[in-house]
Amino acid sequence: MNFYDSEKMVDLLKPLGYELHNDGDDADIIVLNTCHIREKAVEKTYSELGRIRDQANLRKEKTGKKTIIAVAGCVAQAEGDQIMKRSPWVDIVVGPQSYQNLPELISKVDPIEKNKLISIDFPVIPKFDQLKSKITQRGPSAFLTIQEGCDKFCSFCVVPYTRGSEYSRSIYSIIDEAKKLIDAGVKEITLLGQNVNAWSSKGKDGKVWRLGSLIKELAKINELQFIRYTTSHPLDMDLELIEAHRDIEKLMPYLHLPLQSGSDNILKLMNRKHKVDDYLKIIEKVRNYIPNIAISGDFIIGFPGETDKDHDATIKIIKEVKFSQAYSFKYSVRPGTPAAVFFNQVDEQIKSSRLQEVQNILREQQFEFNKKSINSVIKVLILKNGKKVNQYLGRSPQNQSVYFNHEKENLIGSIINVKVSEAFQNSISGSIV
Ligand code: SF4
Repeated sequence: MNFYDSEKMVDLLKPLGYELHNDGDDADIIVLNTCHIREKAVEKTYSELGRIRDQANLRKEKTGKKTIIAVAGCVAQAEGDQIMKRSPWVDIVVGPQSYQNLPELISKVDPIEKNKLISIDFPVIPKFDQLKSKITQRGPSAFLTIQEGCDKFCSFCVVPYTRGSEYSRSIYSIIDEAKKLIDAGVKEITLLGQNVNAWSSKGKDGKVWRLGSLIKELAKINELQFIRYTTSHPLDMDLELIEAHRDIEKLMPYLHLPLQSGSDNILKLMNRKHKVDDYLKIIEKVRNYIPNIAISGDFIIGFPGETDKDHDATIKIIKEVKFSQAYSFKYSVRPGTPAAVFFNQVDEQIKSSRLQEVQNILREQQFEFNKKSINSVIKVLILKNGKKVNQYLGRSPQNQSVYFNHEKENLIGSIINVKVSEAFQNSISGSIV
C-alpha cells in the first residue's frame, strides 16, 4: 500500500513541475514514505532522516539550494510532532490519510525560516474524493487501493491506529481509476486493502456490493487482463468472492489468506476472531470451487504465550494446507498495541528456532508447488527485464516469478505463453511457446 501511496504522491507533485529522481543528491524535495509494520520502524526512520539531513546539507553547501524534507506514512502518523522535535530539519510531516495535502504543504514551506507543517488528521472528506490527480506513469502491473483501515484490532497490529477505521472507496471512483490505469498502459491490477475482502459499497443497482461484484464489474473493462487482490481476512471470505474465482477468468487463481497461528489459543490471544477450523473450512471450499488455486498465507511465530504445543499445531496446519508460498516472521512488539504489554513474551532463541522450522517446511512446499508447473504452458504478463542478458521476468497466474530468455523485440507489457521447463525455490523458468 505504501508503494501505491508513493506513486500517488508522485502523481500529485508532477503538475507542480517535480520529476521523480533516482537518488536524493540533487532533489528539491525528499519524501520519506514510512511503514510501521516491520520491527524498529521508528528507529529506522530517524536514522534515515539523519542520512537525508547530511545529503541536504551537502547540497546546500554546493548549490545554495534548500531541500524540502517530508516524512509520510504510518510512522509519520504515529510519531506526529515528535519527528519535528527529534529531527528539526524536517519540514513536513504528513500521515497516510492526508498526503493529498502535500502540494499545499510544500507551497507553505518557508525557504529560510523553519516552519513546521504537520498534517496527520483523519480527514472529514475521504482522501480518495480529493485525490483526483492524473495518473502519470505506470508499468504493466499496478496497484489500486479500494479499501483502507481496519476495525478488527488484532492485538499485535498497528493498522487500526495508523490507518484508522475501515473505509471502502465508492465503486465509481475505483472504476474511474482503473480506467485511468488502463489508459496509462496497465494490464494487471492488484486491488489493495488492509482488509480488501471487507470492501463493500453501494453498487450500480442500488444494492450493497461486495468484492466479488466489484471484480465482476472491473472484468468488463476489455483491456484489463489480470485481476488480483490482497490482503484478505478469513472472516470476510464470502461465497460471492469464491464464486468470482470460479467464474471470472481474469481473476487469477491465487489467494493470500493470512492464518497467523495454527493454535486456537493463540488466535484468541491475537484477537483474530476465528478458529483454525474456520480457516480450514474456507480452504476446503475454495479448493472445491477452484482446484488449481494457489494458497498463500502469513504466520507470526513466537506470539506471547506461544507454547511448544501451540507451535506444533502451527506446523500441523502448514503441513495440512500445503501453501504455494507464505510469509512468516518472528513476533516483535509494536508499541501501542495490546500484545506489547503481554507478560509472557517468548524467548528470542526459541522464536528463532521455531521460525526456522516453519520456514524450512514452507520453503519445501513452495519448491514442490513450483515443480508441479514443469511441462505446463502458462499465460504470463511480462513485467521487466531479468538480471541476465536477454532475460525477462513475468508473473504466472498463480503468482510465481517466471523467467525466460528472448533476443528480439522488447516484450515488456506483453502477455505470452511460456512452457515451463525448470522449477526453483522462488521461481520457474521456461521458453516462449
Ligand atoms: S485484520 Fe489485518 S490490518 Fe486488521 S488489525 Fe488484524 S492484522 Fe491488522
